[in-house]
Amino acid sequence: MLVSLQEMLQEAERNNFAIASINTPNQISLRAVIEAAEDTGMPVTINHAQTEESVVPIEIAVPLMLDYARKSTAAISVHVDHGFDFDHCMKAVRLGCTSIMYDCSRFPLEKNIEEVRRFVDIVKPLGIGVEAELGAMPNNMPSDVHGQETSDLSDLSVYFTDPKEAEVFCERSGCDVLTTSFGTVHGVYAGEPNLDIERIKKIKSLAGDVHLGMHGGSGTPFDQIQAAISAGIKKINYFTAIDTAPAPYLMKTIQESKNPVNFCNLANQAMEIIYERTVEVLNAFKNASHT
Ligand SMILES: [Zn+2]
Repeated sequence: MLVSLQEMLQEAERNNFAIASINTPNQISLRAVIEAAEDTGMPVTINHAQTEESVVPIEIAVPLMLDYARKSTAAISVHVDHGFDFDHCMKAVRLGCTSIMYDCSRFPLEKNIEEVRRFVDIVKPLGIGVEAELGAMPNNMPSDVHGQETSDLSDLSVYFTDPKEAEVFCERSGCDVLTTSFGTVHGVYAGEPNLDIERIKKIKSLAGDVHLGMHGGSGTPFDQIQAAISAGIKKINYFTAIDTAPAPYLMKTIQESKNPVNFCNLANQAMEIIYERTVEVLNAFKNASHT
């Protein structure tokens, strides 16, 4: 069923778990992630990122995502991940997305607040949830598919969100979810992940009714993720580790096959692996309250 992100987050706050927010840029991922949500009983946000426009345009992806969400027995919201342009985000509104990340984190604080406020004032009366970002999220994607440059990862603390700025942002922007920077990386880690859990707690204490999001979940050990959930994180973007999981298995199938390999069989194998990886992730997000 199609459920708003705001509704899901309220339940996550009450029961101390996190909503997984997973990109589904193809039908294999879409089916696998939704099936994993159904089998674990966990609500999930399925995402279309603006950077995935070259993989599948939003006009094609979102109607399909909405259809799958409505037919599912699991609680699913359809979300835009990292919408950088106002016009793109408005297109997502018209297509029926239930929540949208309007990412203006590249701007100075004041302009970030103004832009997000402008968007919130338009979409809040429609019941659409808004996610914003404050503080830079360093980037280390495993390939150049997303067209983003790799960041200098020698000292992640230079990217961290200032809790005082987060407080001002939450008071004035009107966003539902604020994603902050405290040690995660988009893509794969260069070294051992080390999240600043105290920073999350501080931001949570200053954020009022705004829920806290975390991006770059892939590669972060589950015990650190669970500590982040207990400290206040209730929406976690987790994609790279799921998306890269099938490749080694598919390569093995191709290399070991003595006959031409049928793509449908590879697709089914990929779907099974994405499903299994997603189930692991959803269970880890569910069990935070038990740590
Ligand atoms: Zn992100």
